[in-house]
Amino acid sequence: MNGSSPPDPLGLELTAEIDDQWSNIQQVIEGLREVSKPEPDEPLDQRANDYDRASLRSLATPTVTPQPLMQVIQEAYYIFNYRMRTNHPHFFSFIPSNSTDLSWLGDMIVSAFNAHLGGTVASAGPCAVETALVEWLAAKVGFGPTKINPTKAGGLFVSGGSVANLIAFIVARDQKLRVHDRTRGVIYVGDQAHYSLRKAARIVGFGADQIHCVQSNSQFQMDPEDLQRQVEIDRQYGRVPFLIVASFGCTETGAVDPIETLARIAREQGAWLHVDGAYGASAALASENSAEAKKMGVADSVSWDAHKWLMQTYGCGMILVRDKSTLTSSFYVKGDNVVDRAGRVRDTAEFWDLGIELTRPARAISFWFTLRVLGEERIGRMIDQGIELTQAFQSLIEQRRNWEIVAPASLAIINFRYNPGHRSEEQLATLNELISKELLAGNMAALMTTRLRGKLALRICCINTRLTGEDMVVLMERMDRIATEMDQMQRASWKSIEQVGESDYR
Ligand SMILES: *Cc1c(COP(=O)(O)O)cnc(C)c1O
Repeated sequence: MNGSSPPDPLGLELTAEIDDQWSNIQQVIEGLREVSKPEPDEPLDQRANDYDRASLRSLATPTVTPQPLMQVIQEAYYIFNYRMRTNHPHFFSFIPSNSTDLSWLGDMIVSAFNAHLGGTVASAGPCAVETALVEWLAAKVGFGPTKINPTKAGGLFVSGGSVANLIAFIVARDQKLRVHDRTRGVIYVGDQAHYSLRKAARIVGFGADQIHCVQSNSQFQMDPEDLQRQVEIDRQYGRVPFLIVASFGCTETGAVDPIETLARIAREQGAWLHVDGAYGASAALASENSAEAKKMGVADSVSWDAHKWLMQTYGCGMILVRDKSTLTSSFYVKGDNVVDRAGRVRDTAEFWDLGIELTRPARAISFWFTLRVLGEERIGRMIDQGIELTQAFQSLIEQRRNWEIVAPASLAIINFRYNPGHRSEEQLATLNELISKELLAGNMAALMTTRLRGKLALRICCINTRLTGEDMVVLMERMDRIATEMDQMQRASWKSIEQVGESDYR
């Protein structure tokens, strides 16, 4: 080697290697189109046993010498095969993923540019789009500028609902609770609320005794009378109610809390009203079913996930606030010149002044890509479709003998169970648990079971945009067949137990 000439940069060497393989890599993109849309015959849930895990672990670290690129792509397929296909059309558990070809195309564009979305200094273009898109979304949930609220709404894209809730809690604490009152502050969360809210309270520094649980009514909506009662008692004890959390679309039941009544109580108490709309706020973009969602504007902040109902890949949510300056007052740390003497936020507030992250990806632009290509009307119909499929499924259940609704269709979620009568709660729980297991074992559907007021229910969430009305009819038929079989099996086993003789079981 000639010591006088420096070696070529290693990055250029890599570029040349990729150039050589470019036609193969284009084939890889073809293949990814398929993995992004699982077909019904693909496994809903591929678990890993001990042997699989050992083999997966063996792939975790780089080998000393390079591996061929196409081989490593095969390895990626192998690794990702072990997963729940949450974007499978028959995956009804959790909040299913609803990603489309547009979602990952948007991601590819964002990832290739790799813009730094901390602030306009680094990416004027994407920052301008994120700001304007956030304002548009804020107006959709009712945070538009009004006479009473001339201050401009704002917010930012974050990794998901948990972080959005966390940011809301930080802002609520800073806006509504004096520092020396922090040990007396109380947060009110519904008994149906998502656990990320309790987690947020804990991260922000509140003890379990400062998080008060509010009962829900028969529709699983937060009961404002119980809240009012608790707030009054807490005041008598010198505690400071400073944050009320409502849900727009509970994860278990889809229930929507009475936001306007809760907003009145929050105002009377000088408390912050946060709405967790991680799942349900997307109804604000529906064509036919958006009226309720527009009422969220009476809140102070709203969490909203785009990686649930709005077709994005994971890691895309938003926190929206009625008054953008509340975010800056919690997160701006460099000095005080971002707020002018009149307390107005100057336009120079950057995204790093509004939230936790400094370096941020252009999540907003992936989402923008989907929105721009689809257009408002088609997105509206896609959201409506989920709500309508769920309502149609409710009628299918009502038409069948021995099936009962446990929590009626709300947004795109419904809870129900098989109940042939003359069974104990325990026997019904076992029976419905078996139905869920059997559906998964046969790769027919992944549906979660959940306990609602002591009843074990089967729960489905129907937001996958590839799901058809026919799929729902087939699901109902399969469930009914399995339920009848399981019920017969269960009865046969009771009979054999009875024959052994009661005394053995005392
Ligand atoms: C999913 C969900 C969350 C948490 O959001 P992540 O994006 O998973 O962090 C919070 N609240 C509700 C109601 C949800 O459905």
